[in-house]
Parts: sequence; structure tokens; C-alpha cells
Amino acid sequence: MSINKFWLYTPLEKMTNSQWESLCDGCGKCCLEKIEDIDTGEVYTTQISCRLLDPNTCKCVSYETRFKYMSDCIKITPKKVYEIKWLPKTCAYRLVKEKKDLPNWHPLITGNKNSTITSGNSAKEFVIHPSEKQGDIIDYIIDVDI
Ligand code: SF4
Ligand code: SF4
Repeated sequence: MSINKFWLYTPLEKMTNSQWESLCDGCGKCCLEKIEDIDTGEVYTTQISCRLLDPNTCKCVSYETRFKYMSDCIKITPKKVYEIKWLPKTCAYRLVKEKKDLPNWHPLITGNKNSTITSGNSAKEFVIHPSEKQGDIIDYIIDVDI
């Protein structure tokens, strides 16, 4: 079956709503807590997730109503993709912004919506729910570049 690689020729801001939604691979990495160094502006990602992220499915447990509970949750939009510096390297929106193809494990390539998780490319590999956190969040900075 041939795949319509719409992301290779459609700018983020021109995508239909369904194209836009399908682009998200569900990795959950954008739902990890970050720490910003106030001196350098550098942003570090940690293993600790937002409290609304289910660590098993890497999905938000309250996606439709999330802003009611998490006022600092950021809705990813084309504008945000250009502004945000901390989107993970594998984030499909970032890849499209950088004019790169999607990886072979992306659900749009595999036709399997779980392939991000089953291929080991989601936050499930290392995520820790905040209820399990012990000590300082600094100790949970991920030292591999995601
Ligand atoms: S990092 Fe990107 S691809 Fe992964 S869940 Fe977040 S928006 Fe979707
Ligand atoms: S509220 Fe939901 S979508 Fe927003 S960061 Fe938390 S888990 Fe992710």
C-alpha cells in the first residue's frame, strides 16, 4: 500500500485538522517536566511527567479538559512549533519543520497507532510519574538528548 506522505509537501500551517492530529506520534515526550536555567535560558527535560500523563499509554488522561487542570499545558500549534526550543528530536512536528521525513516507526508509516510505544520510541521507556518522585527534580534530568 502506498503512503501519502503529505507531511513532505504540506507546510504545518496548511495542514487539515486531521492531518495535523495524525502527525503526533503519541510519544508523550512533550509532557515531561522541564527545568529552565535562569542564567543561560537552557531548558532541561526530566524523566518526571506531568501528573496527567498515563505512564503506560503515554496519553493525557484528561486531554479534552486538560487546561482546566493544567494551566501551563502548551497546545502545540504551527506557531508554537517554530517558537519552542525543547520539542524532542523525534517529534513529528519538529521533523516537518526541519523538512525531514518521519521515522519508520511512526504510526503514519506503520499503519499501527501503537508503533511508537512498541518500537521503544516513547517516553514509556523512562518516564516516572510525579507521585513516584523522590528528592530533587534536578536528579531526574535526562542526560541523553531526546
Ligand atoms: S513530542 Fe511531538 S510527537 Fe511526541 S507526543 Fe508531543 S507533540 Fe506528539
Ligand atoms: S495536561 Fe495532558 S497534554 Fe498537557 S502536559 Fe499534561 S499530560 Fe501532556
